[in-house]
Amino acid sequence: MLFYFSIMDDIFKLKEENERLKEELARTHAELAILYEISNAMRTTLKLDEILYIILTGVTAHVGLGFNRAMIFLVNEKEGLIEGKMGIGPDTGEEANKIWTKIQQEQMDLDDLIAVFKTSEKIPDSKFNQSVKSIKINIKDKKNYLLSIAAQDGMLLHLTKETINEYTHDPLVQILKTDELVIVPLKAKDEVNGIIVADNIFTRKPISKDNIRRLIMLSNQAGLAIENSQLYEQTVIRAHTDSLTGLWNHGYFQYLLQQEIKKAMEQNSVLSLIMIDIDDFKMYNDNMGHQTGDYILKELANLLNNHSRKIDWVCRYGGEEFAIILPKTNKKEAILISEQLREKIQDFPFIYEEIMPAKKITVSCGVASYPEDGTTNSALISCADKYLYEAKKQGKNQTYSG
Ligand code: GH3
Ligand code: MG
Ligand code: MG
Repeated sequence: MLFYFSIMDDIFKLKEENERLKEELARTHAELAILYEISNAMRTTLKLDEILYIILTGVTAHVGLGFNRAMIFLVNEKEGLIEGKMGIGPDTGEEANKIWTKIQQEQMDLDDLIAVFKTSEKIPDSKFNQSVKSIKINIKDKKNYLLSIAAQDGMLLHLTKETINEYTHDPLVQILKTDELVIVPLKAKDEVNGIIVADNIFTRKPISKDNIRRLIMLSNQAGLAIENSQLYEQTVIRAHTDSLTGLWNHGYFQYLLQQEIKKAMEQNSVLSLIMIDIDDFKMYNDNMGHQTGDYILKELANLLNNHSRKIDWVCRYGGEEFAIILPKTNKKEAILISEQLREKIQDFPFIYEEIMPAKKITVSCGVASYPEDGTTNSALISCADKYLYEAKKQGKNQTYSG
């Protein structure tokens, strides 16, 4: 009898163990499927914005890791900063319910959710996204900030109701207003290059060990995908940059102008183009040599860059000629900008400029505008060129605009 009970007990234990293993297998299977989907999605693009969106969709989607909200920060090594880049999540509980019901009703899977972004080309600019993007903190400020601790130590931080109170001064905790969150550093070649933060502010579901394990698995992939995309973007930028001056090169200038004309046409807007040529530069080169001439080109490029607006595209057209594309700018405004730049150059103390006829390095400018002076790249460029020639003819160091 005793023997019989002992066998029954063993069978029962085996059954229990079997069930447990089955559950674990199903869970692992689900985890792998999610990760497989997310990493596949990440491989479809090299655009950083799209990569970040895919990562955050993976962290927040019900069919993904299922957190209520997630945000991503990137390490800006050059400036020693940790910068908020993107936040995905509803602004309110009400909105959360609406979104989640819709996703459930339409049976959207991860691919569908990602496709929404790819078709609209930008993420919904929620208040939450804006506040994430406003966070910028010094990476060295470890004493005060959770993000710095995560970035410097490369360790995951899980703050719960019991521990979060010690960090009420932290900008992250202030913005999230949550009582539990998880902070996971992203790594590429052992260097932290980003951080994911996630919480369950609306459902208040505690963050489990399983949740955290999945987040770590996703983060390992995410760090590499971000690095790849950043390397790709750097290569693209380098290919479009003039190596002497750091300005956009001629090829990219042509592309940019075409894009800006297209935008202006679609939006029924205007744009202007300033062509700039250094006065008597041959004389400077002949006297001072090409290397000193190159130095002048660099300094002039910096002046143009530093004194033009954020929306303008400053390019090296060729040799000692520069071109600036001014989106949404009519001729009157463009003339003002051209004159401001011309005066800045005239007043700047360039090296050995006293050898020039006017004892100064100066430039002449031609301003052409869309649509009145042309509606194609070549029409606008040849008009600006013609006006530039006119500025030279009328005595140099001036702007001509028709
Ligand atoms: P203008 O006032 O009519 O513009 O007279 P200019 O002497 O400046 O004539 P032009 O615009 O034709 O300038 C051509 C000269 O610019 C030839 C060359 O000495 C100089 N130049 C062109 N490209 C470069 C460059 O990349 N580096 C240097 N150092 N000089 C250049
Ligand atoms: Mg020239
Ligand atoms: Mg010249």
